[in-house]
Amino acid sequence: MSTFQELGLNEDLLNAITDMGFITPSDVQQQAIPLLLNEERDLVALAQTGTGKTAAFGFPMLQKIDVDSRTTQGLILSPTRELCLQITNELKQYGKYCNGLNVVAIYGGASITDQAKQVKRGAQIVVATPGRMKDMISRKMVDISKIQYSVLDEADEMLNMGFYEDITDILSHTPDDKSTWLFSATMPREVASIAKKFMYDPFEITVGNKNESTNNVSHEYYLVNARDRYQALKRLADANPDIFSVVFCRTKRDTQKVAENLIESGYSAGALHGDLSQNQRDLVMKSFRNKQIQMLVATDVAARGIDVDDITHVINYQLPDEIETYTHRSGRTGRAGKTGVSMVIVSKSELRKIKSIERIIKKQFEKKDIPSGTEITEVQLMSLANKIHNTEIGHEIDKYLDSINELFEDTSKEDLIKKFFSVEFNRFHNYYQKSKDLGVVDSRDTSEGRVSSNDTRYFINVGRKDGFDWMKLKDFLKEKLELGRDDVFKVDVKESFSFFNTEKEMQEKVLAFFTDFKHEGRFVNVEVSENKGRSGGGRRRDGGGRGKRRFDDKPRGERRSRRSNDGDRNRDDNRGDRRRRSDDKPRGRRSEKSNFSGSDRPRRSRRK
Ligand code: AMP
Repeated sequence: MSTFQELGLNEDLLNAITDMGFITPSDVQQQAIPLLLNEERDLVALAQTGTGKTAAFGFPMLQKIDVDSRTTQGLILSPTRELCLQITNELKQYGKYCNGLNVVAIYGGASITDQAKQVKRGAQIVVATPGRMKDMISRKMVDISKIQYSVLDEADEMLNMGFYEDITDILSHTPDDKSTWLFSATMPREVASIAKKFMYDPFEITVGNKNESTNNVSHEYYLVNARDRYQALKRLADANPDIFSVVFCRTKRDTQKVAENLIESGYSAGALHGDLSQNQRDLVMKSFRNKQIQMLVATDVAARGIDVDDITHVINYQLPDEIETYTHRSGRTGRAGKTGVSMVIVSKSELRKIKSIERIIKKQFEKKDIPSGTEITEVQLMSLANKIHNTEIGHEIDKYLDSINELFEDTSKEDLIKKFFSVEFNRFHNYYQKSKDLGVVDSRDTSEGRVSSNDTRYFINVGRKDGFDWMKLKDFLKEKLELGRDDVFKVDVKESFSFFNTEKEMQEKVLAFFTDFKHEGRFVNVEVSENKGRSGGGRRRDGGGRGKRRFDDKPRGERRSRRSNDGDRNRDDNRGDRRRRSDDKPRGRRSEKSNFSGSDRPRRSRRK
């Protein structure tokens, strides 16, 4: 593997790379940079967003253009304003030591005359969305007749969005002898035909296989009755207290509705779709980036170009119509070397789509059960315990300690801990105890067909922060316990702990092994979990519908008071970002990601 220096980049770029903290070139950079630096040739690169492709074309372009000239030499077309701005910002950072460099972004929804002025000052590189670019060409506000490099970024997305004509028109104003570099996550027929039409003998590089999903993302599906879809979504969120996710819906209406319902239910959520004004979309994206929003509910079109690196989960609330779109959705997580999970909530009638997606992404889905109430309660409790354990003590508390100590004078440490955790535990426990399981039986599925009474579910105090994902933990357990391929199942990895199942007969062996076992210097603790771990897609149906309280049952008064909070704000301007604001919460808590303590869901007032 080469270093950035060995790829042939100049001093100005290497200094910027050092400033940005990039250590090694990514796969697409390894492949593309030397080719583009050394030859004037076209390029077709199959690479997903998050692979470092902006730098793969950005570095060579910056090195090759003449910054002393004011002529526009590079044109980058991208599908959305978001992406356009993201590329522009990245290029400005990469080129921060290239004296005289001017990169200008051109996109709809902002003043065209201002953009024209910026171009006129001399922009060596223009980054544009096709619609606005075409407009500016026809008004002679930009001259691309002398460009030497054109980039079609996320070409499949641009074509999906109906930009074929615009792209054709724009390219007809560029010189024939320029080089064209096309980047696309997938290679549908339309992209291949663009490549054929506008490019000559291109280099072809592929990062992973065509349409293939990155290795950093694991894929899971949850089979539910269509009517339980929303409840399933809430449980997935509750079972992942640190979730930071994009939830994909098929239509703008569903997107708005799901986001509103989540907000009503007390989650920090926001909607992102095309019926929102640019201003509203910017506000939502800002809140999402700041992590004030944990669940961004979005349409496929609106989510294009989301450039947030640490998204933990992508949730497919509904599957996309075009199966290939799944690759784009799941590519929003597992970026910049991190791992991520792509979850699909699926009804029986859509199950066949899972198989088609598996063929396209060349990855297997893991079938999982919607977490039971018990499991969620445990997860939330342990998450809170970990959070408290890791909290640094602030000395502002000191002045209250005398009164607190007095109050608890007669309470033992043990009782104090029990009382403290009961406050939160009872809330989730009471909320979920009567709720039914949400899975449905998949008659075709035999792999998970274990009878739950024969299983033991365990809690283990290692998780993602110890470098495990479900595959690694499964391998680890199999190896340590010397078990066979299918002996460890239903492995669920959370941030600092996990769950797994074995057959009951192995319980003794498992517990015995972990009585005195250290991993990387730390004792590994394994306990039998209260939650038995449902099997076979929800064969158990405890509780049923009888006496079940609807999740959305909320005391009227509380609803009203929330509305009036929202009412203080300009509703129109914040329609996409109507996350809950409880102004009586301390600042730090607002952005805190704990579902247990940072939000009031399940609501205290439900506890009657
Ligand atoms: P992109 O695929 O261009 O959207 O890049 C995804 C993210 O990875 C961006 O935040 C880049 O700044 C970052 N990035 C790009 N190249 C590297 C690299 N070689 N090392 C670390 N991060 C990188």
